[in-house]
Amino acid sequence: MAQRIDGRKIASQIKNELAEEMTRLKAENFRVCLAVIQVGEDPASSVYVNNKKKACALIGIESLSFELRQEASERELLSLITFLNTEPKVTGILVQLPLPAHINERNIFEAINPDKDVDGFHPLNIGRLWTGEKGFLPCTPAGILQLLKRSRISLDGKNCVIIGRSNIVGKPLAALLLQENATVSIAHSRTKNLPALAKQADILIVAVGQKEMITSEYVKKGAVVIDVGIHRDENNKLCGDVDFADVESIASAITPVPGGVGPMTIAMLMDNCVSISRN
Ligand code: NAD
Repeated sequence: MAQRIDGRKIASQIKNELAEEMTRLKAENFRVCLAVIQVGEDPASSVYVNNKKKACALIGIESLSFELRQEASERELLSLITFLNTEPKVTGILVQLPLPAHINERNIFEAINPDKDVDGFHPLNIGRLWTGEKGFLPCTPAGILQLLKRSRISLDGKNCVIIGRSNIVGKPLAALLLQENATVSIAHSRTKNLPALAKQADILIVAVGQKEMITSEYVKKGAVVIDVGIHRDENNKLCGDVDFADVESIASAITPVPGGVGPMTIAMLMDNCVSISRN
């Protein structure tokens, strides 16, 4: 039976370490302040925003909330970002996704000061990631790397297959794993014979956005399986992209949903906020 990788425990360790770091920073009069912008009142987004604010409070990071109406124009949002970009008190800016359809996400990512871009979505930070320079790392991929490292799962020379090529998970994760000397393949909806490719993986990372799609047919015996997906099943219970019950019996280690990758995303957002002090 596979070892369960406990994302809640690892995220909590990281947040405790950050809280200690913040205590030291405050003693040196260094302040960290995250501005969180939400456009509209999507209930799921409100839950995520609240969780981020709670994590800030726990660690000792100040947070400021900016709530714009669903109908707010792209220009309004851009002018708020322009203000926050130069506001000295604000050290990090986060725009909660998804944005309403009339706002172009790319324009928003590009408008954020790259030195306050704690989500790591600005093209400059994406470029820094691919060239191995210091910059903000996107939170979910950074969280997956921490899950592996803190579970003492070595990446050096390993075959890693990532299923999913999104800009927020699959692509940046590939850059991070390459830096750790893994051999990385990215599979997607046009990949031919996906089970055969996935079965070559020592470490299989699934960010496919399809409920419980990945069964033991896709997994090599003894592989490590990381499940990024979040869905609700027919009983309204959370589940992932991986059929956990089926894959658990063949993998050597696996992340559950909930309690795997999810908690790590906020922990790494907090890490990005505090990392401003480390430059
Ligand atoms: P996305 O929808 O942007 O991308 C999905 C990717 O999967 C695409 O690249 C697509 O080509 C590929 N794909 C889709 N169907 C496929 C198939 N049948 N075979 C092979 N490839 C296929 O998704 P995303 O934003 O990367 O998110 C993926 C999942 O992770 C979602 O369930 C999302 O909710 C979840 N997620 C979780 C966190 C977290 O913090 N835990 C963060 C981000 C996303």
